[in-house]
Amino acid sequence: MKIALINPPFEKLVFRCGYCSNFAKSNYYWPPIDLLVQSGFLQQGGHEVAVFDFNVMRTSREKAVENVRDFAPDGMFVLIGSGSWKSDIAFVEQLKQVVPRSRVVVGGAVLLYSSADFIDRFPFVDGVLMDFTQDVLASFFGGDDGIPCMSVREGGKPVVRTPQWDHKLSFPPGRHELFPLDRYRNPHNDKRFTVLLTSFGCQYSCTFCNATDIPFRYRDVDEVMEELRYVYSLGIREIKFRDLNFVSKVSRTRELCEALIVSGMKFGWHATTRADTLNEDLLLLMKRAGCHSLHMGVESGSEELLQRYEKRSDLKRIKASFLLCKKIGIRTLGTFIIGLPGETPVSIQKTIVFAKELKCDVASFNIATALYGTELRRECLEKGYIEKTDGVDELDTCFKASVIGTPQLSPEEVRVWHRRAMMSFYLRPGYIWNQLTNRNFSELAGLARMGMPVLREIFGGH
Ligand code: SF4
Repeated sequence: MKIALINPPFEKLVFRCGYCSNFAKSNYYWPPIDLLVQSGFLQQGGHEVAVFDFNVMRTSREKAVENVRDFAPDGMFVLIGSGSWKSDIAFVEQLKQVVPRSRVVVGGAVLLYSSADFIDRFPFVDGVLMDFTQDVLASFFGGDDGIPCMSVREGGKPVVRTPQWDHKLSFPPGRHELFPLDRYRNPHNDKRFTVLLTSFGCQYSCTFCNATDIPFRYRDVDEVMEELRYVYSLGIREIKFRDLNFVSKVSRTRELCEALIVSGMKFGWHATTRADTLNEDLLLLMKRAGCHSLHMGVESGSEELLQRYEKRSDLKRIKASFLLCKKIGIRTLGTFIIGLPGETPVSIQKTIVFAKELKCDVASFNIATALYGTELRRECLEKGYIEKTDGVDELDTCFKASVIGTPQLSPEEVRVWHRRAMMSFYLRPGYIWNQLTNRNFSELAGLARMGMPVLREIFGGH
């Protein structure tokens, strides 16, 4: 079969994947992991696969439709973004018009909780993929409607099939070479890179996060190494690990790092992890294996808020890990949330001060968003902190959409504080000097890419 894997065009860069979706805050962007995983399955099944990342290619909608029509696929898998879903679904309708015989499957975080709604409202959608780590697309395109992790239409009515998540996480190497790798940018340097998933899910239960329903599972180290060898053979030397929490299981992270060191492959890589799972010994090993940067969810400088949202971490441990990274020479990116219910100007100030104390190289301040499937969303709806709509909301954690309003902070105040946090963190002479003098040319390029839009956001205001 001929199968098209499609990331729709949009005026902004938008990350769309099976568990998170937001607009890119800067000019960085990477291959969509859902499409990459599926490309490996389809290749293994002997199908002809074409990857169309229209978003990163900045392809116009007309040209995109033309490209897909010319390929004439038997099946299409199209990503839907949480903040761009209206535009994305209109694009899917156009595709179905030009290739009417092709079955259409859509996927994306927003669909995990709205698959019935999408199937009900959009007759051109044939199925919703609820678990992108399963090899089911080809069977569905071949006519099998009884697939466990695919919501479908039966007798004109939606049938929702929630993912079981109980299968072992295992998939073949993705077809990295089908993606326009020269177009992707990472926040740390200007090297050609790709993404890789070694585990999926999370064993924690932060109540603002929509990953809490997905149990932690991981691929065998041998399988990950096979994919890394494949990527290395393509001449790629930089990896972004897309795991939700790279150090979920310390022994397994050690095993992976040791395998990387023994392999002799010289990758540089970065990953996202919880701060409180790190220790000096492990960080030294990770650095030897090529780790140059870590992204860590701090969320708040208020101990009270961390407890309220069940982060199960404390400020002391978080700070110790950031300072350890600094000592060892691993760069850090801390992510923070502004505007959760319970937030006050005092707690935001604590967060800003804490971000500076952590000495993180980059602070990513995000506006609190009541994501589908979270306890936070339930609370916000119950207390009237967000408006109840009939349909599916367009959500985005990065900029101005869907801001929560509470008795302590109105949406407008949250936006003002968000901007103030960025100004306070980034416009420090000492910080700027440090960043400029401690980077090589490639890293400065990464910094410029990340910094310019942040400056635009600060000075452009809301
Ligand atoms: S540790 Fe991270 S991925 Fe896991 S539930 Fe909390 S915020 Fe989500």
